[in-house]
Amino acid sequence: MGLNKKSVDDINVKGQKVLVRCDFNVPLKEGKITDENRLVAALPTIKKLVADGGKVILCSHLGKPKGEPKPELSLAPVAVRLSELLGQEVKFVASPVVVDDSVKAAVEAMNDGEIVLLENTRYRAEETKNGEAFSKDLASLADVFVNDAFGTAHRAHCSNVGVTEFIDTCAVGYLMQKEIDFLGNAVETPVRPFVAILGGAKVADKLNVISNLLEKCDTLIIGGGMAYTFLKAKGLEVGASLVDDTKLDYCKEMLAKAESLGKQLLLPVDTAIAKSFPNPIDAEIDVDYVDCDAIPADVLGLDIGPKTAEIYAEAAKTAKTVVWNGPMGVFENPVLAKGTIAVAKALAETDATTIIGGGDSAAAVNQLGFGDKMSHISTGGGASLEFLEGKELPGVAAANDK
Ligand code: AMP
Repeated sequence: MGLNKKSVDDINVKGQKVLVRCDFNVPLKEGKITDENRLVAALPTIKKLVADGGKVILCSHLGKPKGEPKPELSLAPVAVRLSELLGQEVKFVASPVVVDDSVKAAVEAMNDGEIVLLENTRYRAEETKNGEAFSKDLASLADVFVNDAFGTAHRAHCSNVGVTEFIDTCAVGYLMQKEIDFLGNAVETPVRPFVAILGGAKVADKLNVISNLLEKCDTLIIGGGMAYTFLKAKGLEVGASLVDDTKLDYCKEMLAKAESLGKQLLLPVDTAIAKSFPNPIDAEIDVDYVDCDAIPADVLGLDIGPKTAEIYAEAAKTAKTVVWNGPMGVFENPVLAKGTIAVAKALAETDATTIIGGGDSAAAVNQLGFGDKMSHISTGGGASLEFLEGKELPGVAAANDK
């Protein structure tokens, strides 16, 4: 792929109207923002554009208003909090249709370095259908477009893709740039050895990720629920463990592919077993550890065992680049989190470039307090998986090349 996109460092925005697609999709409770990480993460790009003398027009979606104004999903609280965080007024230009004559007039009246925030882009039904009318409305406000919303990069919507058809200069912000550098370029042109670690519940959710990473990496490590389908494909008994019988052929294909490409594909050698799935998920549970060639018929495998954890941690330590997506076991339960913790710890301790691909593994790493030990933790679940599948993300592709 070789992604080399124009960034906010490559454009001159002095006196220009700059439309910035941010990810302000923050959790709200009774009108209050309960986690402002996404706002904080957006500040560097906004500050850069303000410092360069741009007229900064911010936009984002929030939740799923399904194409009509929903007062509880208004971006009004975001404007208030952003103003505080920036120490500068962020003027909220509310319109039930996001862009209308009053919004246009407010934008025309802006001075260099001022900031406005538009209303929730998903108040417009066209947004998620990439309809031309709304793309044109958004584009009519601006001379330059900057996309800093990675979480929606795998979707082609008006505010991240459609709008770029009507604006010549389209760049990525610092957040997007970091995701591209790590998930895109580090995976496409990794410093070797490159170890990929995949876990999570189902093989079916990660078919393309497994296949793509197998081609790119030197060692592919499989854990979590998906490992048992691989073990069964190798002819082992896996008892009542989570298995997708429709994917046995696929797993055999991947095992053969690894062999023909000369790649190492590691599967668990031992496993935590229990009589039943914990209910509730964090309930107290009795587990035993057995080798994977001796799993009794009436139990399920719920985590990698200690021998496996050690092998996986060692493999991670020999790497120069590690990508990890998906927990090694039912990590929501402390007894079954040991394998996931062991892998997280190994990644925290290595000097390799460590990339955590969104979703549950990102949450696990942060919860365990290893967040600042990783080179990159992706902010996008779906978008980061599609990157690992080697797919071109519409929101990234729409930005100008350098
Ligand atoms: P995913 O969303 O695909 O990343 O999967 C994450 C989920 O996989 C978590 O909720 C884990 O509890 C679950 N999981 C991990 N290992 C197992 C396992 N051995 N059996 C069943 N579920 C698992």
